Amino acid sequence: MAQLSLRGIKKRYRETEVLHGIDLEIGDREFVVFVGPSGCGKSTLLRLIAGLDPITHGEFVLNGSRMNDVAPSRRGIAMVFQSYALYPHMDVYENMAFGARLMGLDKAEVEQRIADAARMLRLGELLKRRPRELSGGQRQRVAIGRALVRKPDVFLLDEPLSNLDAALRSEVRLEIARLHREIGGTMIYVTHDQVEAMTLADKIVVMNNGRIEQVGSPRELYETP
Ligand code: ADP
Ligand code: ADP
Repeated sequence: MAQLSLRGIKKRYRETEVLHGIDLEIGDREFVVFVGPSGCGKSTLLRLIAGLDPITHGEFVLNGSRMNDVAPSRRGIAMVFQSYALYPHMDVYENMAFGARLMGLDKAEVEQRIADAARMLRLGELLKRRPRELSGGQRQRVAIGRALVRKPDVFLLDEPLSNLDAALRSEVRLEIARLHREIGGTMIYVTHDQVEAMTLADKIVVMNNGRIEQVGSPRELYETP
């Protein structure tokens, strides 16, 4: 279960306010896509939700509990970055096991979760490879797998396809859509790409200059009457 409320969220870096009061409700299992020009504050908002950066003003509430001061590892939230952020010296298995071990899961549980993630993301043949021995699409699937083994309630994905070429982009996009159908987590996804927004989103949030400008379904926002 994951229901998120963002209430009057502001973010300031030194003298500069970059988020000017974000109010948004995100429902359980909803796939929400944030779009908007570079620099409008999308990544900053994801970092606040993940707990990687403190909220200056306002409240983030998850399932009725205020999360502002809760450590990232205790939020039940996993983040996937555009740059994969895999450990180069670890193989695929170890990359996926690392975060799960930090959660204190025993070895059998870690193995089971990795087996499940590997099946879902078609990584079964690649478990002993290092990241440099993988294609970009495979690397991003590993990064998604690493988030998946933590069984988070909420997935944050920050432009996860932007480093991939066009063919891989649609492949991994379909993978993400299928993942959402199968595991049913709440997805919060940032992109520049209108096709990604239209095909993945239940709800699109249009941001500009640190504010939400519009919220609606893909049909409401992109279909001309
Ligand atoms: P987006 O993801 O929409 O491209 P960002 O959230 O990365 O936008 O950035 C929003 C604004 O906040 C930008 O003006 C950026 O320069 C500024 N910003 C982001 N991170 C920091 C930081 N750590 N320190 C200062 N300013 C930052
Ligand atoms: P140990 O802790 O006993 O040394 P690890 O769990 O760290 O073993 O695994 C060592 C290596 O073996 C991993 O890097 C991975 O490549 C491989 N491995 C371990 N368990 C599995 C598994 N269930 N499926 C596939 N490969 C595995």
